[in-house]
Amino acid sequence: MSNLDRAPEETVCGGRTAVAAEPVRDLLPSVDVALGGPRGMTVSRTLPNRGRRMVGAWCFLDYYGPEDLTRRTGMRVPPHPHTGLQTVSWLFAGEVLHRDSLGSRQLIRPGQLNLMTAGRAISHSEETPADHSPTLHGVQLWTALPDRDRHTGPHFEHHAALPTVSGNGLTVIVFLGALGAAVSPARTHSPLVGAEAVLGAGADDELPLVPDFEYAVLAVSGTVEVDGVALRPGPLLYLGTGRTRLPVRAGQPARLLLLGGEPFDEQIVMWWNFVGRDHDEIVTNRNEWMTGDAFDTVHGYDGDPLPAPPMPTSRLKPRGRQR
Ligand code: MN
Repeated sequence: MSNLDRAPEETVCGGRTAVAAEPVRDLLPSVDVALGGPRGMTVSRTLPNRGRRMVGAWCFLDYYGPEDLTRRTGMRVPPHPHTGLQTVSWLFAGEVLHRDSLGSRQLIRPGQLNLMTAGRAISHSEETPADHSPTLHGVQLWTALPDRDRHTGPHFEHHAALPTVSGNGLTVIVFLGALGAAVSPARTHSPLVGAEAVLGAGADDELPLVPDFEYAVLAVSGTVEVDGVALRPGPLLYLGTGRTRLPVRAGQPARLLLLGGEPFDEQIVMWWNFVGRDHDEIVTNRNEWMTGDAFDTVHGYDGDPLPAPPMPTSRLKPRGRQR
């Protein structure tokens, strides 16, 4: 998915200064963002957040749906570029068709992972296929690549089989990184986890955490009780570090998304669909996308590529990761 803000702000993220050195329960409100088009979708964005820009290497979280596609066109994101990040596509219902400048063409369904590592440069499109389910529901995530890996060549992988952990009334599917003994086969570049927990009525258990990681939970559907906090779809619950177990319960069927990772030490600059290290680098990325240099073409998408929005006129002033 692309950041379709008409005037995206340049954001500095990363560094340890704002990482909670203990377990906390901070509710971070979501912001609704229109994805454009006359009947386009609206997404609920919780990362980057005014109060917190990253959770581990996770630097972007858009939640969308459940969207009734009998009245809407669904997803239609034209070819657009990425640098310095991985895009992680994860669905709870429906289908999304991905195409990229490597020549990949891959449909995903719930329980499957599309992972695109941009490295120095990639472009891709995402759309609801013509033949699709009535409902679309999912998340689009990005992880920031550490400096040592961010200039690598682009790479795309699809995983249809992912490990699960079962508990008392719940099943967790680990799509990226590790949770307890379950390790996703997908390529990672820093220690982290991305997982979905499906809770049945009366589910009551604890998820195994790593004290060095910071974590956050998003409710996907229903009401989940996370460390005593009743959470419904909308805000992101930031949990800090220093935890070895996370109590989760549900009275009725519910789902949650768990994100975590080692705090990301490097300071990054995010603007539009680029993750870099300074303003000049972002300007170069933007120019290379607009001139066609450095980015290969996405074939097969019925429509023009997305032009980059204008750069903000004020030059970025580095600041901390929180507030
Ligand atoms: Mn994208």
